[in-house]
Amino acid sequence: MIELPELPYKEDALEPYISKKTIEFHYGKHHKKYVDNVNKLIKNTGYENASLDKIIEDSSGTVFDNAAQVKNHTFFWESMTDNFEDLDEDSKLYKAITKKYKSFDGFKDAFKEKATKVFGSGWIWLTTDEEYVNIETTHNAQQPKHHPLLVCDLWEHSYYLDYQNDRGQYIDGFFNVINWDFAGKNYKNGRDTKSS
Ligand code: FE
Repeated sequence: MIELPELPYKEDALEPYISKKTIEFHYGKHHKKYVDNVNKLIKNTGYENASLDKIIEDSSGTVFDNAAQVKNHTFFWESMTDNFEDLDEDSKLYKAITKKYKSFDGFKDAFKEKATKVFGSGWIWLTTDEEYVNIETTHNAQQPKHHPLLVCDLWEHSYYLDYQNDRGQYIDGFFNVINWDFAGKNYKNGRDTKSS
């Protein structure tokens, strides 16, 4: 049985960038629906007590789509905060980002450009491999290739109520609520895993 994880903040906490109404629908309806779907699909399959990761690993098709969407949304809520702070310029993550993208604004420009180019539904991730941080985009429920640091949901349901079809404006808003502390911890964990 998969549970809907609690939202790490109140539904209106990300306003004005992401409205209470969007979170109510996105978390309360969409994310919950993926959880309900997985639970229906794994009923009497031997996966009833399996972890979400195990279900994702072993499945394809509809089970994979719903299970991966549960995981992606949980990671997305954690990628944002109502207690925003700029990424510390002395941090390893800041240095890795500015090494790859020349400047922090260079990173933001590249992130926004890639996000607006994803055709249809998907996700945009900041990930890390052995060498570099990377911006990766994925379609539908697909997982990134490398270790994820943060993610932004590019499905229209994440921004249509607030920005209609203007995905670029939504990304500009997202930059104001990124949880850099979360991303920094994921960067450290990702690097530790690679070097061990
Ligand atoms: Fe979504």
